[in-house]
Amino acid sequence: MNCQRFFIFLSFIFIACSSNDTEDQKKQCHKIETITRMDKDEFYPFETPQKKTLDLYPFEERSLDYYKITKEFFRCKGQPLNPERVDSSNKDNIKVYLDCESSAKHGLPLINGGENVYPILVDILNYIQRQTKKRVVITCGHRCPKHNSYADISNSAKNSKHMIGAEVDFYVQGLENSPQKIIDLIFDYYKTEPKYRIDNTYTSFLSYKNPTDVSTPPWYNKEIFIKLNESTENRDFNNRHPYPYITIQVIFDRATKQKVTYSWEKAHRGYLQ
Ligand SMILES: [Zn+2]
Repeated sequence: MNCQRFFIFLSFIFIACSSNDTEDQKKQCHKIETITRMDKDEFYPFETPQKKTLDLYPFEERSLDYYKITKEFFRCKGQPLNPERVDSSNKDNIKVYLDCESSAKHGLPLINGGENVYPILVDILNYIQRQTKKRVVITCGHRCPKHNSYADISNSAKNSKHMIGAEVDFYVQGLENSPQKIIDLIFDYYKTEPKYRIDNTYTSFLSYKNPTDVSTPPWYNKEIFIKLNESTENRDFNNRHPYPYITIQVIFDRATKQKVTYSWEKAHRGYLQ
C-alpha cells in the first residue's frame, strides 16, 4: 500500500515539472530565496597556507639523515630474483644455491617468546646514530638458513648467528672509512648506559687472542663480540660494498642470563615460515 502511494507521488512530481512544460510553468516551479546580509558584512581573512614539517611524537627519533632502528631493519635480505650461485670449488661436488623467497614469506627468529632480534643490537646501533647523527646501514641482520647458504658459502658461515638473530653487519654512512671511531662508540655505550656502567664485566673489553678470519683481533665483553672486517675481508653476498664493516655478535642474553649459542634447531625451526 505504501509503495503504491509513493509511486503516485513520484508520478505527480514528474507530471508537474516535466520537460514538456512551458517556460512560464518552469519559472513557477523555481523558488528563489534572497541571501540577507548585514550592511557591514566582512569576509574572514584567509592566511596564505605555509608548508609545515610534521611534529614528532615524543617516542620518535628522526633526523633528515636517519630513522630510528627497529627490529624491522634486520629482516632477511634474501630475494627469489637473485641469480643462482654455483660453488665449483670441489669439481666432484658442484653445488648450486638458490636464494630464499624473501622476508615477505618468513619471519624473524623467535626470541624469548616473540619475533625479534636480540635487543642489544638495536640499542647499540641507535646509540651510534644518536652520537654520530649519521645513518647506520645494516648490510646483514637476520639470515634464514636458505639465504645464509646462498649469501656465504664459507664453512665458518654454516653456524652463523645471523640465523638466530644474534648477529649484525653494518657500516656508518659518512664514516665508512673510520670504523675504529664506531668501535670506540660501542665501548662508550657500555660506559655511559646506566644499566651497564657499574659492572666492569660489561665496561671492560678484552682482546680476543685466538685465530679468526680477520686481521684485527676482535674485542669482547660479557655480552657482545665485535669484529672489524677490513675492506678486503669477508666479502660475502650481503657485503659486496667496498667499505670496511663491523660485525657484532651477541654472546650472552641479559634477559635470561644464558649464553647465546648457535644450534641447528634454533636456526632452522626457530622462526615463522
Ligand atoms: Zn630469507
